Amino acid sequence: MKIPYNYKCAECDIERVHWAHINDQLINHQCPCGYKTEVMIKVDITRGLKLLYRAGYEINRRKDNQTAIIISAMAFETEQLRLYRKWHSIEKITYNDSKYADKEVREIFRQAKGVKDTINKTIRKITDMSFNEYIARDTDLVKSMKEIYPEFNGKDPLSYFHKIIFKPRNDIIHGCYYSHSEKDAVAVYNMAYNGVVILHSIDKERRNKKK
Ligand SMILES: [Zn+2]
Repeated sequence: MKIPYNYKCAECDIERVHWAHINDQLINHQCPCGYKTEVMIKVDITRGLKLLYRAGYEINRRKDNQTAIIISAMAFETEQLRLYRKWHSIEKITYNDSKYADKEVREIFRQAKGVKDTINKTIRKITDMSFNEYIARDTDLVKSMKEIYPEFNGKDPLSYFHKIIFKPRNDIIHGCYYSHSEKDAVAVYNMAYNGVVILHSIDKERRNKKK
């Protein structure tokens, strides 16, 4: 998977896009003008965020709404699995049993009953709460969600979240429906972005608890 990074060349001052592999943290830019520079991608730019860069590029530059929808949903799932794997591994190390952590994570998710189940499994792993319990606790978040999404009634945020992100994705993958508009793609992108932000705050809360 390649990720587009925007940068402005220090020599010719022109905005360029540099494509790099998702796992690359050190990027060697060579501008068409010949100027070379090295850029280190910060560690807090996770794979989920990198995938959102790619989804944004698909919307804004390629006007490929279907690809943007698939990659936005993938960004949320990737971030979610990353955090599950991270906390599962930390628990295993704590119990001196890290050997099978990765294999176990794959097995746990293979047995999950759909996306909503995997989301709840991840949130419970980090917080001991379900997704809905976590969201309901944060009244400011519920309030801002209602402002952004007027049709959201505050009940069952997980189903709403699933409907906005994964229904359009499933329409493409399972239904061969390739006619989503740019507005549809932006809606999925925004919700996936909000989801990644929520995951990061859940992760941060757990990290602070450990201290
Ligand atoms: Zn240049």
